[in-house]
Amino acid sequence: MDFTFDARTEELRAKLLAFMDEYVYPAEQLVDEQRAQLVSPWENPPVVEELKAEARRQGLWNLFLPDAEYGAGLTNLQYAPLAEITGRSPQLAPTVTNCAAPDTGNMEVLAQFGDERQKKQWLEPLLAGEIRSAFAMTEPEVASSDATNITTRIERDGGGDYVITGRKWYISGAMHPDCKVFIVMGKTDPDGPDIRRRQSMVLVPRDTPGVTVTRAMQVFGYEDHYHGGHAEVVFDQARVPVSNLIGEEGGGFAIAQARLGPGRIHHCMRLIGMAERAIELMCRRAVSRTAFGKALAQQGVVHNWIADARVQVEQLRLLVLKTAWLMDTVGNKGAHTEIQAIKIATPRTVTGILDRAIQLHGAGGVSQDFPLAELYAAARTLMLADGPDEVHQRSLARRELKKYR
Ligand SMILES: Cc1cc2nc3c(=O)[nH]c(=O)nc-3n(C[C@H](O)[C@H](O)[C@H](O)COP(=O)(O)OP(=O)(O)OC[C@H]3O[C@@H](n4cnc5c(N)ncnc54)[C@H](O)[C@@H]3O)c2cc1C
Repeated sequence: MDFTFDARTEELRAKLLAFMDEYVYPAEQLVDEQRAQLVSPWENPPVVEELKAEARRQGLWNLFLPDAEYGAGLTNLQYAPLAEITGRSPQLAPTVTNCAAPDTGNMEVLAQFGDERQKKQWLEPLLAGEIRSAFAMTEPEVASSDATNITTRIERDGGGDYVITGRKWYISGAMHPDCKVFIVMGKTDPDGPDIRRRQSMVLVPRDTPGVTVTRAMQVFGYEDHYHGGHAEVVFDQARVPVSNLIGEEGGGFAIAQARLGPGRIHHCMRLIGMAERAIELMCRRAVSRTAFGKALAQQGVVHNWIADARVQVEQLRLLVLKTAWLMDTVGNKGAHTEIQAIKIATPRTVTGILDRAIQLHGAGGVSQDFPLAELYAAARTLMLADGPDEVHQRSLARRELKKYR
């Protein structure tokens, strides 16, 4: 592996770093102030739209999409250091560069599996940042980390429609008024012999009769407005044409798997940026605060926290870069073990780093005056979202054990 950035990545890095300094960090507080003035807290504050236009003008747009026909055409290895930079301000930077989940995964699904009509109707406005989207898989009634449990029904009505019935929750982005479409995972063949061929994915426009966004779910008390929230959504005999099927009937499970590889690494890349921000805040606080006659930076325990955090971030970054390189060279399937490894290691390690950064800030650490509490909540949820740690550990360990059986 070559550890130097190629010319294109270097150029984009420089541009993105300048964009963060000039536009993103100064807007972090303004976003909250403007949101407080909005009729609905789920709308984009004006500064978000201004930053989107600026990012697009500078070519800092759709950087996540490796397919050059639709996106920036960067490899995972090229995108990794860029996503890390946006992770330093995860509430704002991914959104304004059109690189935020769950739209990124949904755009990938449409680019890879959508037909021409679906691409025209949904992919094009998503790529332009004109609408947003959501991915609806998890259900409150069943253990959804096992996707074979999903109970939502997608039934053919004998005519040209599918009728969808089910309840989903934690559907990210769905509270946002710009969220115009759901990719819904449900069962088309609930009794089929192959439990991984029972599921399909369909596109359900938000304004379809029978679709109700019932409430915003909280995350440690946060509503994640910047993210478009996480909604509970009921599908009560929602009817869509069969042409809204993505790929083939029974292909839902495989599409979900394909969607999750890149999504997981993007989260990990951004988490490293979050950890870098935490280290920076820790150091700034440690040199500027005195307790018992000494700067906090002179306390041995603070040295340990900072040193451990630096070592951990360097380790994580190498593993993430190796995974990105493998995805580029042997494909997402070939990088499966590494994708699981980073999904296990990164959220838990970064949560630990944020925890110590919070401790160093005293009460300020859990307050709204520093980003640490919100970053902590975001990092902690990634031990659940896109599959809980234990599921990845189970699958990684089974592959490891297989060598000895
Ligand atoms: C902030 C946030 C955003 C989310 N966004 C979305 C979204 O946009 N769309 C969407 O569809 N879902 C979303 N989710 C849901 C997320 O993907 C699920 O919560 C996750 O897959 C786990 O499913 P579950 O909540 O049903 O937990 P369950 O399946 O009930 O699992 C509960 C716990 O059981 C344990 N467990 C499960 N399996 C095993 C095992 N094999 N071995 C050992 N222990 C095990 C784990 O500790 C696990 O945490 C989001 C969740 C959060 C918190």
